[in-house]
Amino acid sequence: MKVMTPGPTQVRSNVLAARSKAFCNPDLDPDFYDFYKETCELFEKALGATDHRAFILGGEGILGLEAACASLTEPGERVLVIDNGIFGKGFADFVELYGGEAVLFTTDYLEPVKPEELRAFLEKDSDFAYATMVHCDTPSGVLNDIETLSRICDEFGIMVVADSVSAMFGERLDLGRAKIDILCGGSQKALSAPPGLTMVWVSRRAFQAMEARKTPIRSFYANLLAIRNYYEDKWFPYTMPVSDIMGLRVALDNFLADPDVYDRHERVAGAVRKAVKEMGLSLYLKRGMSNTVTVINVPEDLTDQEIIRRMRQDYGIQIAGCFDYLAGKVIRIGHMGENCNIDDIRETLKALEAVVTKK
Ligand SMILES: *Cc1c(COP(=O)(O)O)cnc(C)c1O
Repeated sequence: MKVMTPGPTQVRSNVLAARSKAFCNPDLDPDFYDFYKETCELFEKALGATDHRAFILGGEGILGLEAACASLTEPGERVLVIDNGIFGKGFADFVELYGGEAVLFTTDYLEPVKPEELRAFLEKDSDFAYATMVHCDTPSGVLNDIETLSRICDEFGIMVVADSVSAMFGERLDLGRAKIDILCGGSQKALSAPPGLTMVWVSRRAFQAMEARKTPIRSFYANLLAIRNYYEDKWFPYTMPVSDIMGLRVALDNFLADPDVYDRHERVAGAVRKAVKEMGLSLYLKRGMSNTVTVINVPEDLTDQEIIRRMRQDYGIQIAGCFDYLAGKVIRIGHMGENCNIDDIRETLKALEAVVTKK
């Protein structure tokens, strides 16, 4: 089965091979602490981060989002939840789980958040401990300009948690220009390793805020302070999934060896959108589509399930439907990471055309 979903994506054979190698005891082997640190540094290099505060956590992408909210939210604090999609809105659940008061700033789900609207909102009310935002909200595929949005929050003294799980390494992000305090990524999207790891980059200011808390962080597994000094202390709060990290390391090497990644995402995404329209289908969004995923309206004479089933059965290609308010309404093709190559895209589009034109 060719996996053409917006995560998990296809995994290159050298990543699979790395995960099947013999491994050490990651708690006890001093070499593992160096291996882990070097892998975090490779991640920082791939991100273009200039200093070293990235961590790889043993858990799927969701763990990064929850860890950010668990570590920053104090009971009763107000948190701004920037919401133009399912993941955007979903942050409110994490904020409230840890006792915060989520204040939603909801905008049109069919297009990116407009910076001037955020600024106008904050001019009236900016009493927030931090704000949450999503880079690519994968169910709709909308791409938010988190560089600009985070800078606006910073002008009002508000820290920023950004979910870039499905955009990171598929969409450019200038971390030097952005003002992001916790940036979350996942192994199974554009980095194209199997699911199971979340990568977070944490600003100094965010760690200072965690240290200055009046109340303790109400989590163990999702407590970012617990892992902060792993290298100095030679201690991890839990046993690290060593094979997953060995695979991630090779996926990072693959990314770093490929200078064309971002341009290719742009070209391939443009080609997908064009082809989809040419076969008589329509795109879900008005504007601001991410180069990592294309979200397509289900045509009237078919259901999402029929399209997905025929793509699987007749062509051996897995594409995705959606959930929540988009359930049954759209289908999604993931063209990030290893999926982002002309051969797989051509094959997928050809199959989709045959399915929707009922050939
Ligand atoms: C994939 C993804 C996550 C991680 O959660 P899943 O359980 O894999 O859906 C978080 N945020 C975004 C925007 C994602 O696309």
